Amino acid sequence: MIPLMYLWAGLFLVVILAQSVLLCWYGWPAIRRMMHCPWCWQSCHLMQHYPARWSSTMCPHHAQRIRAQRALQRAQRLVHS
Ligand SMILES: [Zn+2]
Repeated sequence: MIPLMYLWAGLFLVVILAQSVLLCWYGWPAIRRMMHCPWCWQSCHLMQHYPARWSSTMCPHHAQRIRAQRALQRAQRLVHS
């Protein structure tokens, strides 16, 4: 007979595994968005290793930074014109 402790340990492992699978399943678009950000790769000086077959996306951090940069440029253009 299996000791009760092993049963609980097995149940615990199954629950942890199911939770991590669910997390990966629902978080995958966000994870891919972060991993496929060429700006992140560039800031880590890894741009020459960026796989060419990947479609590039922008992570939220860099999207926000570039939006702020564009707003600044637009403001400067308005001031100079
Ligand atoms: Zn990024």
